Amino acid sequence: MKTVRKTLALLMAVVLLLCGFAACGKKEAGSDDSSSQKASNDAVAAALAAEPAPESGCKALKYDMNVTLDTEKNTVSGYEDVTIKNTSGAPLRELYFRYYAPAISKKSAVTDVSPDYQLYKENENTTVIVDFADEPMQPEEERTLRLSFTTVVPKLDDRFGYHKEGKGKMYLLTFWAPQLAMYTDGKWNDSPYFDEGESTYNAMSDYTVTFTAPESYVIAASGTQTSNGGVTTITAPNVREVSIVACDYMTVETSSVDGVTLKMYRPDYDDYDTLYDVMAENAAAAISLYNDKIGSYIYTELDIVPGFIKAGGMEMPGLVIEALPEHMNSYEYYNAALTVAHEVGHQWFYCAVGNDQYNEPWLDESFAQYCHEYLYQSAAPEALKRADRLALEGEPDATCIPTFDEYYHDSYGVADKHYINLPCSEYTFSGYSDYVYTRGAEFLYRLQKAMGDDSFFEMLSQWYLGNRLQVARGSDFIKHVLQYNDTQAVKDLINDYLSDEYVK
Ligand SMILES: [Zn+2]
Repeated sequence: MKTVRKTLALLMAVVLLLCGFAACGKKEAGSDDSSSQKASNDAVAAALAAEPAPESGCKALKYDMNVTLDTEKNTVSGYEDVTIKNTSGAPLRELYFRYYAPAISKKSAVTDVSPDYQLYKENENTTVIVDFADEPMQPEEERTLRLSFTTVVPKLDDRFGYHKEGKGKMYLLTFWAPQLAMYTDGKWNDSPYFDEGESTYNAMSDYTVTFTAPESYVIAASGTQTSNGGVTTITAPNVREVSIVACDYMTVETSSVDGVTLKMYRPDYDDYDTLYDVMAENAAAAISLYNDKIGSYIYTELDIVPGFIKAGGMEMPGLVIEALPEHMNSYEYYNAALTVAHEVGHQWFYCAVGNDQYNEPWLDESFAQYCHEYLYQSAAPEALKRADRLALEGEPDATCIPTFDEYYHDSYGVADKHYINLPCSEYTFSGYSDYVYTRGAEFLYRLQKAMGDDSFFEMLSQWYLGNRLQVARGSDFIKHVLQYNDTQAVKDLINDYLSDEYVK
């Protein structure tokens, strides 16, 4: 039914605005900002002239962490031993680490480095600099540093914070540990923390975390984890970050999809039992669909944790946090189904194919949005149909699930004169979600139509397979597309959606 569909399209727009992924920028909405299309714009030429994305000139080969969650003080404290290799080809006198916790919780701090080098802190303590002084790291040298830190977890219903109520506490731990900054083109990444989106930009590394918490706490995390007597060992090879959820009132239900262990965590709330089922079913269906259409998931496990966060969802490697609605109503089933399809899509785009999320957010958000809006909805798997039926109880002839073309026509299909590839800081609040997410997904959909399904999915799959475990830039994607189709129609699409000024 058209009315229902339109209502839901609107509802989805609202939901996704709140979806962690919303909003950036300081400019007034509606201003003629740098996202507006220009008469002469040649993103194709800019991409062809660009160098391929460089690897970081300094690599964290592995992190061994040993930390304790103190549920009285609400802190995570301990140390990390990080082994670093200088691959820049030149001596490095300094190393930069990014540690976003102090941007949210100011008492969080790196307290010590061993061996005993000088520590400096900048950017509200989110940049931690280790100064080697007269002992610079030589080219190809490996060096292990121990950073000690105390992260103060704020009482905050968000991706970094803890939720407290009569039942107990849930700790959502993102940004909780320092990580070596990316070092490209002779410059350390210094993107500021961005509350409405993501700033995290890391190469892959191997993490082992010994995480001690009271024995009553159940732990979800990136990678795989085993708990024994309050000590959880987290093993996470090839991840861009490790995130952890600790809660003393949740259980876990484990299933398997395409050989992937899917763990659905279930905080103890009666109202949400069916919603948890919907999340798990749709996560499984999304994994299966993306495996088939894009390429195999790179990890062996995916944890889904419902929690009280500002946004609709939040993606981390091997871990998805799904927002719990404050007030349950039947439409939440459908919203949860699509939100989980979006966040699972990030396992392919951001977690596997990495990008600079602050400066080129479209490279993961447009793709994750495309995954849920077009790929997942058009496939209409049984899990989504069940969420659809639950959302529409009492309206037996209605359906939320549009066909591919209906969805596009109802939701967008109107020419819009803004680019999708600007940094977070360059968009207005509404512009970020309208352009990077919605219009970004539309770009990929129109590319699919222009290229034809077979060629488009071959292109998308090879993009994924060729760049997973790496980081990629927008120019890499444009050049990749042109290898499959360099017709004027495709070049026109690229120039309509991507600003040459921001092609990196
Ligand atoms: Zn997203």
